[in-house]
Amino acid sequence: MHAPVLIVGAGPVGLALAGELGWRGIACTLIEQGDGAIEQPKMDLVGIRTMEFCRRWGIADWVRDAPYPGDYPQDYVFLTALNGYELGREPFPGRAYEASPPESPQKRERVPQDMFDPILKRFAQSFPHVTLRYHCELTGYDERADGVHATVRDPRTGATETITADYLIGTDGGGSTVREIAGITMSGNPALTYTTNVIFRCADFPSLHDKGKGYRFIFIGPEGTWLTIVAVNGADRFRMSIVGTPDKVEHSEDDIRRALRRAVGRDFDYEILSVMRWVRRELVADSFGTNRVFIAGDAAHLMSPTGGLGMNTGIQDAVDLGWKLEASLRGWGGRALLRSYGIERRPVALRNVAASSANLRRMVSTRNERPPPPEIFQDGPAADAVRKAYGDWFTATMRHEWFMNGFHLGYRYDGSPIIWPDGTPAPPDETSTYTQTARPGARAPHVWLSRRRSTLDLYGRGFMLLRLGTDAPSGEGIVAAAMSKGVPLTVVSFDEPAVIEAYQRRLVLVRPDGHVAWRNDVEPADAGALIDVVRGQ
Ligand SMILES: Cc1cc2nc3c(=O)[nH]c(=O)nc-3n(C[C@H](O)[C@H](O)[C@H](O)COP(=O)(O)OP(=O)(O)OC[C@H]3O[C@@H](n4cnc5c(N)ncnc54)[C@H](O)[C@@H]3O)c2cc1C
Repeated sequence: MHAPVLIVGAGPVGLALAGELGWRGIACTLIEQGDGAIEQPKMDLVGIRTMEFCRRWGIADWVRDAPYPGDYPQDYVFLTALNGYELGREPFPGRAYEASPPESPQKRERVPQDMFDPILKRFAQSFPHVTLRYHCELTGYDERADGVHATVRDPRTGATETITADYLIGTDGGGSTVREIAGITMSGNPALTYTTNVIFRCADFPSLHDKGKGYRFIFIGPEGTWLTIVAVNGADRFRMSIVGTPDKVEHSEDDIRRALRRAVGRDFDYEILSVMRWVRRELVADSFGTNRVFIAGDAAHLMSPTGGLGMNTGIQDAVDLGWKLEASLRGWGGRALLRSYGIERRPVALRNVAASSANLRRMVSTRNERPPPPEIFQDGPAADAVRKAYGDWFTATMRHEWFMNGFHLGYRYDGSPIIWPDGTPAPPDETSTYTQTARPGARAPHVWLSRRRSTLDLYGRGFMLLRLGTDAPSGEGIVAAAMSKGVPLTVVSFDEPAVIEAYQRRLVLVRPDGHVAWRNDVEPADAGALIDVVRGQ
């Protein structure tokens, strides 16, 4: 069997890559060792940039219509126990009531993995040239100059076969076999905490306490932050995480039940559905691939879930890879195009991994930096005042994690060999504030063109050359150069002041992934050289 692209691992990143390639008309095979069942949903924040990709793919409505109730309040609550004291709260409306920010046509969505993976799977399977094979485990591969020979095995029968591919992509998670065989090492901190996650079912959880419905409850005891509980499906399923420390520990079922009793502050009826003991890591692969083998998602970077960046970073990897694989397979991509994948994505992974750890440090800063004063666990007006001061400090400290649009949208490919810089200074890379910029390397800005149509809706299939203003140069030189190299390029002209204001130049070239590749007020002196740079030749 031969596949132009063989993807290993059908977690959210592999499924997104299969969908992205399918959407681009590229045949691929996605293999998964398991049966696709999700034993314990991990992610539940579909970030704003991922939603922009879903919009491009035409599946944003599927995510919006996922069965996580739209009116379930998304508050973050800081407390000593559900039947104890509330220390602080960051209120958020249910996802149905959250508006898109001005810088995007979309907003983040709360959709847990066991709702989101099936959406990505349905999207990937909507393309006849995408093949999904479950019970198919990669056991080895051999990378040659002209392709990859992969050995796969059916874990149920032990039967093996060979699949050849032009490119092999490992989206096979933290323990990636692809990464291991490629000999790619990871750097960072392999154990931030040993954490135990427990999914439990409780039909009437909100009635057990007076704190109301919320998305995440963060519990602070005399030892500092020790536990969190999140509303997994906005109904009867919850995830308790015993945060843990860098010291290896294995919580027993008794520990788990004691922790639940302590968190709620009373006995109650519940059913434990699954227990996942895991290590929170801060690791980035030292390389993102070779000539024909690449890694993406958790195979390439492992970060603390604090910030909801893990899968979202992986889906950005998939989008960066998608058009480069298409260009390489169709023949218009240059020799350096796929090499630019790691050059562009690794710095983003390092940035996001560091930010996620910083969020974790803030969450556990109650342990040593600012331990809770004993009064916060006591009754009385004097204790109330201490509790309020401590709660206000923690609420303000945690705000970095809840408002991260700058992180989700502001990643840039500065310094990439396939970006033509324009010499303007880099805008600050801020966590919460996102200032749109059309500086080469950045995500092309969103501007509403009509009530429902965004500039982002222009991007995706090939390159897009924007001519802005009535006196914009024709762009003919760029069009001719692109045509001569077989590079798909469309020209679109706008006179709307808001678009001109956001893009700042009269000619702007946007890549198929929606990042700006080049901009100027005049045609380039050598349009052929420009096209060669942006196609990685
Ligand atoms: C508690 C928790 C909460 C999180 N919350 C968020 C969040 O809100 N937002 C967010 O963006 N991220 C979040 N994350 C991180 C997110 O879950 C991961 O980043 C994401 O699941 C990674 O997806 P992946 O597809 O790269 O890898 P995985 O989900 O690990 O999938 C890898 C797949 O590859 C398969 N596989 C492995 N080896 C082979 C092989 N040899 N052959 C065939 N198949 C193979 C596996 O069976 C698996 O299905 C959270 C993580 C945790 C632990």
